[in-house]
Amino acid sequence: MRTGRIIAYIAAAIFIIFAFLFILGAFSPEGSPGWIIIGIIGLVIGFVLIFVGTKLSPPQKAGDQVVNLQIDLPGEVEMETIKCKSCGGPLSPKDIKMVAGAPVVECPHCGTTYQITEEPKW
Ligand SMILES: [Zn+2]
Repeated sequence: MRTGRIIAYIAAAIFIIFAFLFILGAFSPEGSPGWIIIGIIGLVIGFVLIFVGTKLSPPQKAGDQVVNLQIDLPGEVEMETIKCKSCGGPLSPKDIKMVAGAPVVECPHCGTTYQITEEPKW
């Protein structure tokens, strides 16, 4: 994923450089006005490649969001009312970690760790 983005940026830079050369060349005595159109097309392709490059990076962030969603799922079990089973201290969603696919809460007050038992909804 990351290499694809780098390739897109390099290709974009090449397109933009050549596009500028064509536009500059169009104003030289040997140049033809048609080069401006080629240059503009090159610029558009270059910026499209940059846009594609920026679009290639989100998947990693999306993956983080999926993990966050999995951690937030126990939050539906009325997180505000969850208290430590050992010391009775209030627990916040940030105390929840995913261990082996199961939500595990670590009490910040007494350091006790235990699994969150979701009450069955059926
Ligand atoms: Zn505790």
